[in-house]
Amino acid sequence: MAPKRIALLGATGSIGRQALEVIAAREELTLVAAASGSQDLSRLAATRGVEHVQVGGDLTVLLERAEPDLVLNAVVGFAGLPATLWALDRGVDLALANKESLVAAGELALTAQSRGGGRLLPVDSEHSAAFQLLESRDAGTVHSLVLTASGGPFRGVTRAGLDEVTVEQALAHPTWSMGPKISVDSATLANKGLELIEAHFLFGLPYEQIEVIVHPGSIVHALVRLRDGAALAHLGFPDMRVPIAYALGYPERKPTAVPPLALAGLSLTFEEPDLETFPLLALAREAGERGGTYPCAFNAANEVAVEAFLAGRLPLLGIAEAVERSLAAVDGAPAGDLADLLAADAAARRAAERTLQPA
Ligand code: MG
Repeated sequence: MAPKRIALLGATGSIGRQALEVIAAREELTLVAAASGSQDLSRLAATRGVEHVQVGGDLTVLLERAEPDLVLNAVVGFAGLPATLWALDRGVDLALANKESLVAAGELALTAQSRGGGRLLPVDSEHSAAFQLLESRDAGTVHSLVLTASGGPFRGVTRAGLDEVTVEQALAHPTWSMGPKISVDSATLANKGLELIEAHFLFGLPYEQIEVIVHPGSIVHALVRLRDGAALAHLGFPDMRVPIAYALGYPERKPTAVPPLALAGLSLTFEEPDLETFPLLALAREAGERGGTYPCAFNAANEVAVEAFLAGRLPLLGIAEAVERSLAAVDGAPAGDLADLLAADAAARRAAERTLQPA
């Protein structure tokens, strides 16, 4: 069989680097295209013999040239949307690590997928787990889906304790090693909020059937409760090479370098998320339930606020305030097409910028 031709977008980020490792170890996978936001890729192109590389710019141009069988979209933020829609529209399999594009453009993305007919394979660890638990299961048998959250570096901290958090502290994640945007999102639980909306679109479950629970060890990635009283969980070490390998190789499962889960000495603990200290999780749920372009606005305002936090312009607790005020300022009207969606994204970004200006 001819090797599967992979296009890797976001090749120099945390997911990208781990994907390169997975692809190098599997002869049935070949890297035909790689893109980064700003970092040079000439060394990667030379050492790995990658035909098509691109730094910045319109990634769909690269995809048109490369004609991949599968796109791994590991771009950070809303910027990943054109590549997501490109793959879904054309029926090219999409391994999605760019949750923001699905959150912001859920309905458009699903319409594109039903038009194109390709696979949408989640790379987010929780969603990869949920995908495996829910695959070929009759929706009527499912009571609820539970997404786990590590709780991030500030789990157990009260609101007052978050007053003077530094960027460095926010980037120090206890269980996962990730880029700055997702690390801040994990520290505020905005990441779990985005994942809640992502799960709604991926699995077609109403929000009341998706629960978030804090599980500090990040061993259980997702859990499905069935109506017959059984609950099925997906366990594994917190190592992104597992969901990356699963998505790239789907439907086959091949060995990875990740050791088997050792159980002795392992204890699994769970607790309710603290929505008062981490209001972004509740704001995401509300945005998801309101529908329309509220999820898009939630994501846009969060991106603007996280950037401001990373630049030292906003305290950590200011992120949720900026998002809440932005959501109150937009109309959330549904997007009929991509132009509507881009306009909603831009409006939410302007609203978020306004909240950052001194009164
Ligand atoms: Mg995740």
